[in-house]
Amino acid sequence: MERTLAIIKPDAVKKRVIGKIIQRIEDEGFEILAMKMLHLTKEEAKQFYYVHKDKPFYESLTDFMSSGRIVVLLLERENAIKHWREVMGATDPAQAKPGTLRRLYGFSVERNAVHGSDSPQTAEWEIQFFFK
Ligand code: UDP
Ligand code: MG
Repeated sequence: MERTLAIIKPDAVKKRVIGKIIQRIEDEGFEILAMKMLHLTKEEAKQFYYVHKDKPFYESLTDFMSSGRIVVLLLERENAIKHWREVMGATDPAQAKPGTLRRLYGFSVERNAVHGSDSPQTAEWEIQFFFK
């Protein structure tokens, strides 16, 4: 069993697809171990995405991620990290495979509906960030 962190981003919350995304999470065999809704400050968004601090999209991304409520979920499943990233699809919704969450609900490479950890180390850090 493995754990990963998932986020339903502000664009998907505004679009009212929280329910659809959570249904998909359960249909994919994930157990939801913890879940909460919150509104990140700009400073918290910058901390969470610190790894991207030198990227050209850092300011815009952290503005977006602090622009509205998000839902944060702690998920458990066999191969959770890789499986959740497959369910999300590619970062750019236009490149994501049909049926993936980003293809279904994403708007742009920035406003792409969902987040997922990318490695066991990242998952541990991200889970600690939200669920101490
Ligand atoms: N992002 C962006 N512009 C880009 C690449 C990424 O705004 O050119 C945003 C997007 O919201 C993405 C997040 O930054 O989900 C983190 O980027 P990463 O490369 O880690 O993609 P992910 O792991 O989310 O697929
Ligand atoms: Mg990433």
